[in-house]
Amino acid sequence: MSRQAGTVYCNGCGRRLCREGAPEQVDFLTIEKEWGYFSKNKDGQMHRLDLCEECYDRLVQQLFIAPESEEVTELF
Ligand SMILES: [Zn+2]
Repeated sequence: MSRQAGTVYCNGCGRRLCREGAPEQVDFLTIEKEWGYFSKNKDGQMHRLDLCEECYDRLVQQLFIAPESEEVTELF
């Protein structure tokens, strides 16, 4: 569980990413997946995890194919 009382923690290293009501000081990745009928053993389960940028970089290095990447001109 990486979210407790509005606070988000990185699932990879455990550091706090943001607190409810506080402006975000760091950017991070959130993955949400509602597993459906064709999953092997997660039917009807909702999974969510958050990763800081460093843990994201570590994850990406383990991937067989690198993520698609493009320049975004408008930053929000
Ligand atoms: Zn992390």
